[in-house]
Amino acid sequence: MTQEPSEPWGMRAQPGSPLATALSVLERVGERIRADRQWLEIMKRPKESRILCFPLRRDDGSLQMLHGYRVHHNLARGPAKGGIRYHPAVDLQEIIALAMWMTWKCAVVNIPFGGAKGGVCCEPKNMSVNELERLTRRFAMEIITMIGPEKDIPAPDVNTDERIMGWLMDTYSMTVGYSAPAVATGKPLSVGGSAGRGQATARGCSIVAREAAWRMGMPLDGAKAAVQGFGKVGGGVAQFLDQAGVSVVAVSDVNGALYRAAGLPVEELLAYKQENGTVVGFPEAEAIEREALFGVQCDILVPAALEGGIHAGNAGDISARLVVEGANLATTPEGDAILREKGVTVVPDILANAGGVTVSYLEWVQGRQEYFWSESHVVRELEEVMLRAFEEVHYLAGTEKVDMRTAAHMLAVGRVAEAMRTRGVFP
Ligand code: NAD
Repeated sequence: MTQEPSEPWGMRAQPGSPLATALSVLERVGERIRADRQWLEIMKRPKESRILCFPLRRDDGSLQMLHGYRVHHNLARGPAKGGIRYHPAVDLQEIIALAMWMTWKCAVVNIPFGGAKGGVCCEPKNMSVNELERLTRRFAMEIITMIGPEKDIPAPDVNTDERIMGWLMDTYSMTVGYSAPAVATGKPLSVGGSAGRGQATARGCSIVAREAAWRMGMPLDGAKAAVQGFGKVGGGVAQFLDQAGVSVVAVSDVNGALYRAAGLPVEELLAYKQENGTVVGFPEAEAIEREALFGVQCDILVPAALEGGIHAGNAGDISARLVVEGANLATTPEGDAILREKGVTVVPDILANAGGVTVSYLEWVQGRQEYFWSESHVVRELEEVMLRAFEEVHYLAGTEKVDMRTAAHMLAVGRVAEAMRTRGVFP
């Protein structure tokens, strides 16, 4: 690299933002593994970032202008893979950070994908089903030249689900003129979804939670857990932990939090959330402030909401000995330093929540071979991938005398750098 390129997205990472966190981790880890500077400079930047501005026709006939993004971070190891998020806080920097995170996540579990992410800045909770479908189909068309089974395979993320992936797959299929199930993962089973995908992220989190607890000598049976976020990931993790004998004493969602010292009845709470759209108002628990969740007495804490859930302002209150990061970029660098100081074991996001992308990979493989496996087969494969990745990260952390976050990133960045070195620079 002879010249420092200007930032093509027209701005430096906002201090304290997920992108600033992502870049600081990369810088730190790059130095630690003595990565060649030229590969690091490439890895610091997204390969392609598309900014879209498009209208959505609302049910009342009015038009609403929306901003959407799709970012490919690094494709050295394979096609782009990453979720699509609908949320009012979505912006380009967040999507770039999350795309970079997908590159590391795919590398740490050693699946042959590069990193991508997409999102639309909107409030889906205020949209009808028809509006959500129009939004999804329009966004899919806006990014149609970026996606494809061999190019970029979207998946669900915050506020998106299998129904949305079904519409995306249909829009792509209608455009190319044939059914292309492998263009998206996390789809409904009826259109080429994989058995076990819905619960995969949560299952992966609970596999690594079990593994970490075992190595710490902490029996899961009777342990106490708190879970921030009660969506696809948080709700599922609470369910798996509950089934493993863990007492889930506190949960939260965007509307509020609940506490019960004797443990929440998780199955009933899931049914309540399904019916009411929130955990708030659940009669068999005490309502607490959302932030108070971080101060409850527990052994395991699972942040499974948005970025930066654990930060300098609440990390000191955490009593858990084990943190399993369901959310991406769940802990700010300042929060992380406090957890390290306290000796808390952290299973980092890129490892802890990689179960989703792992089963997405299995779904993509099944779609491409047009032969589908049983749930038990998928779960077995998932267990194998998660346990191998956990073992590799844990081993590296031990030999390098670093925390698991640093070890996971060392492994991931090293693998991506190696792929780039092997491929070389075109032309
Ligand atoms: P989701 O939309 O299903 O659920 C998000 C949950 O977080 C909701 O319960 C919401 O109310 C809650 N929430 C939002 N803001 C909150 C706040 N300030 N305090 C407490 N709760 C809050 O989304 P999801 O798919 O469960 O994703 C959660 C996290 O996991 C995200 O960081 C996402 O990127 C990550 N992730 C998801 C997957 C997946 O397969 N869905 C895979 C890997 C990582």
